[in-house]
Amino acid sequence: MNNLSYQQAGNIDTAVTLLEQTPANRIIAGGTNIIDLLKYFVFEADLLVDINALEDLKQVQKLNQDGIRIGALLTNAETAYHPIIEKHYPLLSKAILAGASAQIRNMATNGGNLLQRTRCYYYYDPEVPCNKREPGSGCSAINGFNRIHAILGHNEQCIAVFPSDMCVALAALDANVNVVGKNGKRSIRFGDFHKLPENTPQLDNNLAHSELITGIDLPARGFKDHYSYLKLRDRSSYSFALVSVASAFDIEDGLIKEARIALGGVAHKPWRIREAEEFLLNKTPERKHFETAAQILLHGAVGFEHNLFKIDLAKRAVVRNCLMALKPDTQRPGAKPSL
Ligand code: SF4
Repeated sequence: MNNLSYQQAGNIDTAVTLLEQTPANRIIAGGTNIIDLLKYFVFEADLLVDINALEDLKQVQKLNQDGIRIGALLTNAETAYHPIIEKHYPLLSKAILAGASAQIRNMATNGGNLLQRTRCYYYYDPEVPCNKREPGSGCSAINGFNRIHAILGHNEQCIAVFPSDMCVALAALDANVNVVGKNGKRSIRFGDFHKLPENTPQLDNNLAHSELITGIDLPARGFKDHYSYLKLRDRSSYSFALVSVASAFDIEDGLIKEARIALGGVAHKPWRIREAEEFLLNKTPERKHFETAAQILLHGAVGFEHNLFKIDLAKRAVVRNCLMALKPDTQRPGAKPSL
């Protein structure tokens, strides 16, 4: 860990001003990822700007048209167990609780969840090439051990995946991310927040350096009657997803009127394909249609030596999770789905 300074910001303007002074000034909130990154010398910091005193960012607020805003500084645990989230957005609650450990969820913030870095092993090892850590150095994963890596949206620059569970649900729920920077406030559609590697694999998202996440808006539609989050991983807990799926439906008179399916663990961002969801509209919610939706979602998937299994795994996970979403009982802790 390099020598660095630390300063608490008493308000958002101070935080933004300190942040924009140099790219080596960084925000710290829960610290559950950035401290590791500093300790492993993945990157350095001149100044850590502590924003934990910004109480305004620790609220859950009701918005017009019945949506809600969840503060960037609420912890993942506070969010998952908030009565409004549990009642109206159980998909989000379920996805958050699938991630990390109870201890980490008690510290990690919502803003930090969106900004966490990939868990590609090579990214955390400064001794080996990695375009995300050092652009132009190469990608050690492409010909290395790539079991956890991407099957969609990757390129020769980077095949890392974005590791969040929470963000897979936020993608399915059509959330918006509120940010503030030196040029004022803006709202970013969740699908536009994270990015594919393209020619800038060092960047995970479209946030400018001096911008701060203030909150996440959720539309009124929470899919509380038909939802499911399925996470498949090497261990049954404390592990990142090999593949995860968030599914949510509105069903009327036996037909699907709205469908959302988002995948995690397969790409540099939560993966959502509108054509797959549109295919399901006005169809009966049954296996054969979910199988077709899965084919559309995984169209063009390309694996590597150690992760080819993910392509079939993801297709099966989509079908299973969509069937589970039809039976809310499958979402109770300890429930054993019979599908
Ligand atoms: Fe680095 Fe991305 Fe390659 Fe991993 S996959 S080594 S993060 S460039």
